[in-house]
Amino acid sequence: MIIAIDGEASTGKSTQAKKIAKRLNINYRDSGAYYRAITLYLIRNQINPKETLGQDLFSKIDISQKFESDSFSIFLNGEDVTSKIRGHKVSVNVSEYAKKPEIRNFVYSLLRKSSKLNSIVVDGREIGTVVFPDADYKFFLYAIPEIRAQRRHKEINDETVKIESIEREIKERDDIDSTREIAPLKKAEDAYGIDVSYLAIDQVFEEILEKITF
Ligand code: C5P
Repeated sequence: MIIAIDGEASTGKSTQAKKIAKRLNINYRDSGAYYRAITLYLIRNQINPKETLGQDLFSKIDISQKFESDSFSIFLNGEDVTSKIRGHKVSVNVSEYAKKPEIRNFVYSLLRKSSKLNSIVVDGREIGTVVFPDADYKFFLYAIPEIRAQRRHKEINDETVKIESIEREIKERDDIDSTREIAPLKKAEDAYGIDVSYLAIDQVFEEILEKITF
């Protein structure tokens, strides 16, 4: 079984995907975390998004994800980069790198490999449209930007960071993600859309669970 949870930035996709993984006892993959880890690697190696990336480069990037007892971790060449990939530098650069077809194909192959042997829930932007168009269940989460910024602000828990700058960053990422030529952020026609602006986490979760029938 494949469950795709797509949607805009900061709509709680990964929170929902993790809850589903736990409830159904299936694997979880955070596609955004792959893009973030690759971005971290490329920034560290001073490779800018304009360069064409050869296959030899990807053979040097080993990424694995683990979701165990409620806790998600991601490893880049053996190093735990779970918190490093959420940093400002990665967040403001990731969408430029994520436009690149070489990077996207690399992530697609990792995701598809993960789905071969086990049931999986994956969150992202184009999981239901491009990566797994035949997914068993597809959801698309969206919300008004102000509310998404407030939520992210709470999550970051740093008063020195202004809500306005978070809102700007979220809007910029959504703009790049939804206007890019390859695999833009958009709802799959057969995805079930949920406006999460005024819903609590558990309300969204119940709505999703109701749709997943056995
Ligand atoms: O999901 P998250 O906000 O961590 O994703 C970071 C960025 O990675 C997104 O803004 C987007 O540019 C890119 N991304 C993507 N396709 C996905 C997941 C993330 O292009 N499936």
